[in-house]
Parts: sequence; C-alpha cells; structure tokens
Amino acid sequence: MIEQAREMRQGVSLSGDRNQCAECGELFNSVYSFEKHRTGTIGVYQGIDARRCMDLSEMRILGMVKNAAGFWVTERLTAQGIEQRNEAFVMRETGETAAADPSRVLRHL
Ligand SMILES: [Zn+2]
Repeated sequence: MIEQAREMRQGVSLSGDRNQCAECGELFNSVYSFEKHRTGTIGVYQGIDARRCMDLSEMRILGMVKNAAGFWVTERLTAQGIEQRNEAFVMRETGETAAADPSRVLRHL
C-alpha cells in the first residue's frame, strides 16, 4: 500500500524545502512539517517509543493541514500571534465605544 502511494506521486516535482517521506509516502511543504509528523525516538524500532510516522488523524490533531497542492503544512499559531490578534480586537472595540457619543464628556465640564 505504501509502495502504491509512492508510485502515484512520481510525477510530483519536489522543489525548495518540499520533501516526501520515504516511509509513509506523504508529501511535506517543509522539513519542519516533515519532522513534525515523525514521532518516537530515533534508533528505536520496537515498542511504544519506536520511531514512526504519525497517522493522518494524529497529524491533524497537531494542527497540520494539506495545502491545495497536496503538501502537508504546519499552522504555526504562536502565542504571540494570538495575543496580537486579541489586541487588535480590543482596540477596535474601544474605538467604536468612544465614537458612539464623543461630546458627552465635554458637556459635563
Ligand atoms: Zn512519514
């Protein structure tokens, strides 16, 4: 089954950082995402720590998705990215509230 998957993809051109896993035959958009789908300990071949490829559901749990070209990519939603998004949201909310009635404060002087 793995051999078949590899044959089907021989026409795909691998450019730049893109690569194909020799073990499961999946395509990866970067070395980073390839490394991410490998789990276990290098050099261990049996047991729970054995080095292996994650299955598709495990990869999705990690936030990995296939792009339009069929390559696995990793969504890097960092803590900083989330924070920036929240800040932008708060700033917009505050701006709208102030614009609702800007003359009210002046009247009470
Ligand atoms: Zn693999």
